[in-house]
Amino acid sequence: MTQNVQPLREGQRLRVLVVEDESDIRELIRFNLEREGFAVEEVGDGALALERLERRLPDLVVLDLMLPGMPGLELCRKIRATERSASLPVLIVTARTSEIDRVLGLESGADDYIVKPFSPRELVARIRAVLRRAHPDLAGESRGTYQRGRLTMDFDTYQVFVEGKSRELALREFELLRFFVNHPMRVYSREQLLDQVWGRDTFVEPRTVDVHVRRLRQAIERDDSQPELILTVRSVGYRFNPEALD
Ligand code: CA
Repeated sequence: MTQNVQPLREGQRLRVLVVEDESDIRELIRFNLEREGFAVEEVGDGALALERLERRLPDLVVLDLMLPGMPGLELCRKIRATERSASLPVLIVTARTSEIDRVLGLESGADDYIVKPFSPRELVARIRAVLRRAHPDLAGESRGTYQRGRLTMDFDTYQVFVEGKSRELALREFELLRFFVNHPMRVYSREQLLDQVWGRDTFVEPRTVDVHVRRLRQAIERDDSQPELILTVRSVGYRFNPEALD
């Protein structure tokens, strides 16, 4: 068997820079984004955020408006006015609905906004939507849908249906299932799955794969104590068997 060591674009962790001076909100955002598989960096000051962006660009910025150092709108305008960051996706966080007209005005150039207090679920949905608009090529070969037997995956909306019923999958489980449906019948070790789905620079334990496989089985198998789709290959790893979908 030839091992596919080419990292998939969707397997790389997307990096989000969170610019927010309130540490409890920053923590909340970090916790929820990391749980969904994003790599998160934090900074609590607008001027420091600009310095950080000059060194390295993330894939998306979550930007609070009321900041020490430099106000969020000014930072957003600077991001837009700088050539290398002009198309960097920016999601504004604001506590004041009266600011929204200015936020979405041409002068700031933000991609979208979310009003405090927000639910983690709404935040993640907004971030995904902004990223999809900014990187239509993100899903690469597997854009569109996968449909076989009782399983349907929509790679644009990140929805999964089993026998027509929607199933909630965390981003990581979704990416794992995407990898499996694109590479049926082949056996992958936990380390190979980490490389392909989590990204090569990841520092998670191979056992983490087992946790996500278990959750994925609960979501898509008819009986997760007797899996037919994601098969354990003893002392090696896992194999996806799409024939059990028919
Ligand atoms: Ca603030």
